[in-house]
Amino acid sequence: MAKASAEVITHCPNSKCGKPIYSDHLYSWCIECGEPLPDNIQAQIPRLQESREGAASVTSSQPAPPERLSSRELLERLVRLQEQQNESLEAIRKHTGCVYAWLIFSVILGTLVFLIVRH
Ligand SMILES: [Zn+2]
Repeated sequence: MAKASAEVITHCPNSKCGKPIYSDHLYSWCIECGEPLPDNIQAQIPRLQESREGAASVTSSQPAPPERLSSRELLERLVRLQEQQNESLEAIRKHTGCVYAWLIFSVILGTLVFLIVRH
């Protein structure tokens, strides 16, 4: 994205501010003073129109039934879930390493005691 390609579309409607609004402006307000830009100015900002359209298509595709997902997407989701689980397991393992050691130790000890008592 070349910043140099940004053109001044208009200026801030706030007479105290009057900062230029560039064609790569991302917000529906002036970033200098926070003055909301009128609709006719917003309509001239390409990025704003894109994000509006993007948001609209996102919301319309949101309630898509899970059957619409391709098997590849499902697989990716599963892999991501697996990775998340692995990460959380790793975190748990780090914290409960001692607990695990104690658990194994007590099981071995319990087995030994059990065997000794039985004989
Ligand atoms: Zn302003």
